[in-house]
Amino acid sequence: MPSLPLLLPFLLFSFPTFTSPRPVPDKLQHEQHQVFFDDTHLNDTWRSFNRLVDLERGSHIDGLSGLKQYFTRFGYLPKSDRAVLSDSFDARLESAIVRYQANLGLPVTGKLDAATLAQIMTPRCGVPDSNANRSDRASSVARFTFFSGQPRWAGRKPLTLTYAVSPAHTINYVSRADVAAAIRRAFSHWERVIPVRFSEVSDYKAAEVKVGFFLGDHGDGEPFDGALGILGHAFSPESGRMHLDAAERWAVDFGKDASEVAIDLESVATHEIGHVLGLGHSAVIEAVMYPSLSPRTNKVELTMDDVEGVQSLYGSNPNFRLSQLVELETSSAYRDGIGGGDGDGDGDSGSGILRRSWIGILTMAMVMAV
Ligand SMILES: [Zn+2]
Ligand SMILES: [Zn+2]
Repeated sequence: MPSLPLLLPFLLFSFPTFTSPRPVPDKLQHEQHQVFFDDTHLNDTWRSFNRLVDLERGSHIDGLSGLKQYFTRFGYLPKSDRAVLSDSFDARLESAIVRYQANLGLPVTGKLDAATLAQIMTPRCGVPDSNANRSDRASSVARFTFFSGQPRWAGRKPLTLTYAVSPAHTINYVSRADVAAAIRRAFSHWERVIPVRFSEVSDYKAAEVKVGFFLGDHGDGEPFDGALGILGHAFSPESGRMHLDAAERWAVDFGKDASEVAIDLESVATHEIGHVLGLGHSAVIEAVMYPSLSPRTNKVELTMDDVEGVQSLYGSNPNFRLSQLVELETSSAYRDGIGGGDGDGDGDSGSGILRRSWIGILTMAMVMAV
């Protein structure tokens, strides 16, 4: 059985700690268009939450307010709540944890157990979780969500939306062609299932969907936070803005990029396009629209939950058959060498693909060690 001290160096390197968003000097905002990855700027976001393990209501510990800020950031605590500034584990925090656990498909305990903390520390999308402030969420069925009011792109079907990748706000350690190909594949996943086509255009300003890599505070009120932590965000229809954190170590092929913190570009782009189309976050762990993604993890295939969600907004692509998805899920599960239940009793053993990432394995190891 692994001990916690043995795991800690691993975890400390692997997870970010919480700090407030790193301010970016004006010069950088305007001139930092071409970005080299620099791991001396690896953000420590969220990592310090490790020491909050097993806290319960009534506890008081320095640094708990940082966790409350995290929950405020993702919609679980109101921004106006002064109690957010205190380090007391109060009823509101317990309620936020319950809703977070339900939204993230975790066992609902209301405590900061190891599995919950590991999930909190996993890099994720910056879009707040849908239903984060709904008290009835814990008992509802876990599945796809929409933005408030269910906005979607209007127009005659089949709908064609233009997109462009910013020539200025980009990264230069991955070739422009490789970035374009990864973004193209990400759009294709959605095109396959709904009657919407995405057409790449060279005029970034005129494109309906604008994709770019941005650093820190980039002018839309949702600052990025350095490597790991928040990976990207996108806005609801018909905004079309899709932003990726330029501070990440973006990868298009893990075979050619050995970085421990590499993030798969196609996976995050596929997720953010879901937001561009109008989907919110899903509580289905295997879904592309699940909020978090560990480093060195590919998650590009839409699950039944993603397909049902987006088809309820746009209808089905006439060429798409549900059986294609079932075959894909079966072959993916086979390819990943995963089958049957995972025996940890957390209720996810009935889903189509059981993708057990390294972070999941670490979570289990933490649970065993504590
Ligand atoms: Zn998201
Ligand atoms: Zn942005």
